[in-house]
Amino acid sequence: MKLTCINTGSVGNCYLLDSGTEVLILELGVNFKDIKVALNFDISRVCGAIVTHEHLDHSKAINDAAKAGIDIYSSPGTINAINISSHRLHPVFAMKEFILGEFKIKPFDVRHDCAEPFGYLINHPQCGNVLFITDSFYCRYTFPNLNNIIVEANYCEDIMAEKFFSGDLNKIIRDRVMKSHMSLKTCKELLMANDLKAVNNIVLIHLSDGNSDERKFKKQVQDLTGKNVHVASKNLSIDLSKIPF
Ligand SMILES: [Zn+2]
Ligand SMILES: [Zn+2]
Repeated sequence: MKLTCINTGSVGNCYLLDSGTEVLILELGVNFKDIKVALNFDISRVCGAIVTHEHLDHSKAINDAAKAGIDIYSSPGTINAINISSHRLHPVFAMKEFILGEFKIKPFDVRHDCAEPFGYLINHPQCGNVLFITDSFYCRYTFPNLNNIIVEANYCEDIMAEKFFSGDLNKIIRDRVMKSHMSLKTCKELLMANDLKAVNNIVLIHLSDGNSDERKFKKQVQDLTGKNVHVASKNLSIDLSKIPF
C-alpha cells in the first residue's frame, strides 16, 4: 500500500492510499488538477474519497471531484456545511463501518471548530488498521490493533508561547489554534494511550507553518515510540505496509 501526500497543512490536504488496483482519497483540500496528476489521470481506480470536515483546506476540490464521478463520504454535518448538492455526496455516521472496495472504514467524532468533524479508522488487507486523525485538538478514543497511524501534529506549545510573548502571535489566533488543532504534546499522549506493538509507520501531518519544527517533531516521536516516523510534505510517498520490515 502506497501512501502519497499531495499536500498537507493549512495550504491544503490530500492523501492517496493506493493498493495498486484501488485508490482511496483522504481529503479533497487541494486543486483537483493536482489530484488528477497524482492519479496519472486514471480516475477509474478511485473507489471513493473521505473528507474529515468542511474547512477549505480539506474540501475545496469536492465540487470538481463530484463532477468527475468520484463518490465522496463525510458526516451529515460536514455535507450540510459544504452546501453542494450532488448525488456523489454520501453521509456516513460515527461508529458505523462502511465499505469502499477492499477498504473498510469506520468514522469517529473528533474535536475541531466546525460542524461535525470526523476521524477515520481504515482497514485494508495490505496496510492493516490505519488511524487517520487530523484537525482535532483532542481524541477521546483509543484504537485496538493499529498497524499504521496518520496523525496531526500541528504546533508545539513552547514555540507558540515564545511567539506569543514576543508579540509575533496574537491571542485570538493562539486561542483558536489551541481549541482546534493537535499539539505535539497531545499527539504524543494519543500515541502512548494506544497499543503500538503492531504499528509500522507513524506519519505526522498538518504541521503549522509558523509554530512547528519538523526535525524536532520527528525526533521526539521517534524517541518516544521507536517506530518509523515520517513528516508528511508535498509529494511525499511512503510504503504503508502491514508487516514491519
Ligand atoms: Zn486543516
Ligand atoms: Zn480545519
